[in-house]
Amino acid sequence: MAAPRELIYRALEEGRNKLLEHEAYEFLEAYELPVPKFSLAASEEEAVSAAERIGYPVVLKIVSPDIVHKSDVGGVKVNISSEEEVRKWFGTIMLNVKSRAPTARVTGILVQEMVPQDLEVIVGSTRDPLFGPVVMFGLGGIFVEVLRDVSLRITPITEYDAEEMLREIKSASILRGYRGAPPRDRRAIVDIILKVGKLMEEVPEVTDVDLNPIMVFPEGKGAKIADARILLKRV
Ligand code: ADP
Ligand code: MG
Repeated sequence: MAAPRELIYRALEEGRNKLLEHEAYEFLEAYELPVPKFSLAASEEEAVSAAERIGYPVVLKIVSPDIVHKSDVGGVKVNISSEEEVRKWFGTIMLNVKSRAPTARVTGILVQEMVPQDLEVIVGSTRDPLFGPVVMFGLGGIFVEVLRDVSLRITPITEYDAEEMLREIKSASILRGYRGAPPRDRRAIVDIILKVGKLMEEVPEVTDVDLNPIMVFPEGKGAKIADARILLKRV
């Protein structure tokens, strides 16, 4: 695995302030964060062999330094379960992007392990000019976007702090198990919060981390990051 700093310097050298999605996963992997198996494919053949290696079902996603919202340009297809479908969707995604984002540079197509749908949470971080790295936690979707139900901590974050972040959101009861839904793997979320805090402290070039969504499985079954955005600046 490439040293995480190398990835960052290469992106900055190329004039980018954002890691491409596969670079973001590589970086997160170096911090032992739970990322789905992935592989960048430059051709349909490469996509097929990547899918066989990863195991079906897989997700295909466009990788481009010029596209922020991949779904908006028809650049994401989830739940692909055969070689024929990989071939079909590789071509369809390329055509979608060519017609809806004609000037976008295309790096390739990311083949990714399909993460089973489960409870979605968000962990993010940004740098406050006064306080330094701030880590945010909340439940996915409307909980964060509409209700702004989040908890925040300034780094360094202790295990106790991270556990408190899970307890203090208004929607905390959903994590504990709600109307027959099982309690979620809190330990896995705490671990993600701690590692995000650590990477923000160790890598000053990272200005923002946005892990959204993270699927959280029932207790003991862990969690997995389904989309990651990492922003950079020269320091
Ligand atoms: P964007 O936000 O750029 O449109 P995402 O990578 O977030 O693209 O993909 C869109 C949606 O597809 C995600 O919010 C998630 O619901 C689903 N998705 C993406 N990747 C995966 C995956 N590996 N496993 C399961 N679902 C996924
Ligand atoms: Mg997304």
